[in-house]
Amino acid sequence: MVAEILAVGTELLMGQIVNTNAQYITKRLNDLGVNVYYHSVVGDNPARLKECLRLALNRCDVVITTGGLGPTRDDITKETVAEIMGIKLVRHEETFRNIKCFFERVDRKMMANNIKQADIPEGCILIPNHNGTAPGFIIEKDGKTVIMLPGPPKEMIPMFEETVSPYFEKKTGQVIGSRMLKVFGIGESEMEMKILDLIENQSNPTIAPYVNMGEVVIRVTARSRDYDEAMKMIDPVIEKIKKRLGSNLYACNGETLEETVVQLLIEKNISISTAESCTGGMLASKLVNVPGVSKVFTNGFITYSNQLKTDVLGVSPDTISKFGAVSKETAVEMVKGLVKKTATRAGIAITGIAGPDGGTPEKPAGTVWIAVMLDGDIEAAIFKQNGDRERVRHMACLNALNMLRKKILGLK
Ligand code: ATP
Repeated sequence: MVAEILAVGTELLMGQIVNTNAQYITKRLNDLGVNVYYHSVVGDNPARLKECLRLALNRCDVVITTGGLGPTRDDITKETVAEIMGIKLVRHEETFRNIKCFFERVDRKMMANNIKQADIPEGCILIPNHNGTAPGFIIEKDGKTVIMLPGPPKEMIPMFEETVSPYFEKKTGQVIGSRMLKVFGIGESEMEMKILDLIENQSNPTIAPYVNMGEVVIRVTARSRDYDEAMKMIDPVIEKIKKRLGSNLYACNGETLEETVVQLLIEKNISISTAESCTGGMLASKLVNVPGVSKVFTNGFITYSNQLKTDVLGVSPDTISKFGAVSKETAVEMVKGLVKKTATRAGIAITGIAGPDGGTPEKPAGTVWIAVMLDGDIEAAIFKQNGDRERVRHMACLNALNMLRKKILGLK
């Protein structure tokens, strides 16, 4: 089965939004055994949309559109697809009631043009939308299938997972099971080298590595006639990957690094506090995002200025003037002062230059010192991160969490 993804929206052509829908759908179709041969993008223009649809239907079995299903005049996907496929639009009472209920629930007035969203292509399979007003549609005609999904990813993704994915599973007679492994501490290419033979020699399950915000993710996906069977096929592959990657592999079910660390802290009953300079509370925020963290997290200080490092954490002004605020010595004194003040078993201190300014030839922007203390034992490390301010700060937090994780596990 060959598919084309046709994204509809002038915003995409203007460079105002990125076509993440195509990326998501392509990955998922590959998992489902559907080959994606083309991606195309067209504005909210009926003539050009018709042209694209004709071409897509000519060269593919399945066309998946995203966008243009809303209530406004420039939302033309449904009408145009129906015209090209020679299908009438008919009022669907249940959809009409759902749209009405949606507006009541969110306490907004339903406009006349919202009603047009209750007109659906005759004979289509409806794709329910629990997060918005526009339903999606699957139309099958003359051996071709057109699937229409709305533009907002928050609506499109659940609709894909709830209706489109099972639709293809049924078509291909196969069910997909997948698990997401997370790796930190080695780069994508080093990781790939370590498992290259596994990647190359597997066709079912497949092993697909990619990078997401500085972390390497490996998705292992198996196809079978039965979900449990698919999941069972994945287990031995994960065991092999675990052996190759050792402690750099920190999660097997898509958990974040902070979730993994908080889980460890709770399991081992280790209290924790943080002192942050360049990350400005980002680390504390990541920890606090994890439900249940209150069992272990006590304090998070933002000691941005040198004065505060001294006043709050007791860092010696001499240390700062001799070695600099971004130094091993300062990071170590920060974590010592932090743990003394909060009486926690673990502490993390971060001090660095987030950039883009403020660097020197010896300490360029992106230089970050991190000190981690656990039961009186301190470890400090320097990290040199390229990228913008956000990335430097994000990576500093991940490196700090990873240092603590390894320390708790007794690993170097
Ligand atoms: P709505 O009912 O919200 O109008 P729609 O189906 O008409 O939904 P559009 O109006 O085309 O969708 O787009 C709505 C929003 O969805 C866009 O502003 C953008 O934020 C997001 N969006 C649209 N297309 C894409 C895409 N291809 N990739 C990622 N996001 C998208």
